[in-house]
Amino acid sequence: MNKEQLATIKDELEDEKAMLEVKIDTLEKGEDFGSDVDSLEEETDESEAWENQSSAAQELRGRLAEVEFAIERIEKGTYGVCGECGEAIGEDMLRVNSTSKLCRTCKKLERENDIA
Ligand SMILES: [Zn+2]
Repeated sequence: MNKEQLATIKDELEDEKAMLEVKIDTLEKGEDFGSDVDSLEEETDESEAWENQSSAAQELRGRLAEVEFAIERIEKGTYGVCGECGEAIGEDMLRVNSTSKLCRTCKKLERENDIA
């Protein structure tokens, strides 16, 4: 992977990061729900809606963390290196998922462990 490719990926990740931050912000502010968790007990209907919003926001946060971590690795020069075994992740993997932290082998192992 050359510098130009890395710069392109970084641009894309930065774009995604900005977009995610806006979305999370919108979700977390909500409309009428506010961010005060204590008040949820009194308003059961709203609490469910808030929960849906909040779990959507949580999912986006997870994605945001991946994107930020990938950007960090690009900056450190460790992008494309497997976090488990230190081998190159491979461009084919990164093309499918530009935030992939693991090489194909470790990814497979992780998936097997998840199931077990
Ligand atoms: Zn690996």
